[in-house]
Amino acid sequence: MQDTRLYEQIMGIGKPWSVSKVELDVKLQEVNVWVEHAADAQWICPACGKPCVLYDHAEERSWRHLDTCQFKTYLHARVPRGSCPEHGVVNLDVPWAGRNARFTLMMERLTIDLLLNCQSITAVCRILRIGWHQACRVMHRAVGRGQLRKKPQLVRYIGVDEKAFRKGHHYLTVVSDLSAGAVEYVAEHRTHESLAGYYKSLSPQQLAGIEAVAMDMYKAYVQATRELLPGGEAKIVFDRFHIMKNMNDTLDRIRQSEHFELSKRRDNTLARTRQMWLWGQENLPEKYQDRFALLKREDLRTARAWAIKEHLRRLWQQPDVAAARAFFDHWHQWVKGCGMTPLIRLAKTFAGKIEQIVNYCRHPITTAGCEGLNSKITTVKLRAAGFRNFEHFKTAILFYCGNLSLYP
Ligand SMILES: [Zn+2]
Repeated sequence: MQDTRLYEQIMGIGKPWSVSKVELDVKLQEVNVWVEHAADAQWICPACGKPCVLYDHAEERSWRHLDTCQFKTYLHARVPRGSCPEHGVVNLDVPWAGRNARFTLMMERLTIDLLLNCQSITAVCRILRIGWHQACRVMHRAVGRGQLRKKPQLVRYIGVDEKAFRKGHHYLTVVSDLSAGAVEYVAEHRTHESLAGYYKSLSPQQLAGIEAVAMDMYKAYVQATRELLPGGEAKIVFDRFHIMKNMNDTLDRIRQSEHFELSKRRDNTLARTRQMWLWGQENLPEKYQDRFALLKREDLRTARAWAIKEHLRRLWQQPDVAAARAFFDHWHQWVKGCGMTPLIRLAKTFAGKIEQIVNYCRHPITTAGCEGLNSKITTVKLRAAGFRNFEHFKTAILFYCGNLSLYP
């Protein structure tokens, strides 16, 4: 078999295109394949799909293809330009590559496969012998394709969360479809505008379709939701895990200050007990149980704050909004009399947001959403270790967590 025929077969080049020349460069370890079209080829305008006539050819350009054994393989051709009565002179499509691609379709598919299956982008680059920017380019193209194909849909429950992106308080805002466990939208920073951009991208029907939004008690997100989501105020569900984190942070501050006072009197009762107080009661490891049982009975502020914390957790087990509200009022009365200022202050904050907290009984959602979405985003961060650029990181999140149709 001739080498030109061989490459037509293995590259899937068919009429009106054919391989005109194959050159092997042993020194560079490269195979170069030139492709040209028959003179009587019929062309179609890519803008309207109607037949058009050949106008001229653009300069020769190259596409990286799958390797031939260990040899890097490039396809070279001059892309024809057509003349359409309606659209004027247009670049015509070639069957082996997407528009503006630098890889052939087969190479793009392989790159996507590897990106989805390898632990790091650097590993993909090493296997394929491509540059980091080339891998990113394939990802950008894949996400662009996926977003164009994605049909506008109704998302019933969304979660809004902030993610630290780089050291030094650089954040992004991630909006997820909680039912599908997919990231819908990523914006830079964690401002009003970050979330407003999402709402503004939706149609009135889509906005009306949102039944609830899980989020942290975060002013910028709350305001954007109030202003741009019809009935937004009533649709907010403050995330229970963020609330319990606030509670635990306060409990820990109380323990720290009490431990400081005790240690001045050479009393080490509270030394090395931090995590014992923070664990949910049922999650306390067995080896600590005896010591903790004694600690709880000591006359400690920390022990009282712990009991208040443990009781609050039951708020999310209440059967309905009325029961949850009553439960909270009872808990709040208890805190008011506890004499611990940081706790009293925190409870007051919760009381001001109680409607959005007990909304959980109507819509039992959290920002963690579907199991695994958060850890998936974390692995994107690991995979993309070294992403310093927001656009790249955003693309990577949508590539791995967006449930998009990525292949050409
Ligand atoms: Zn046209």
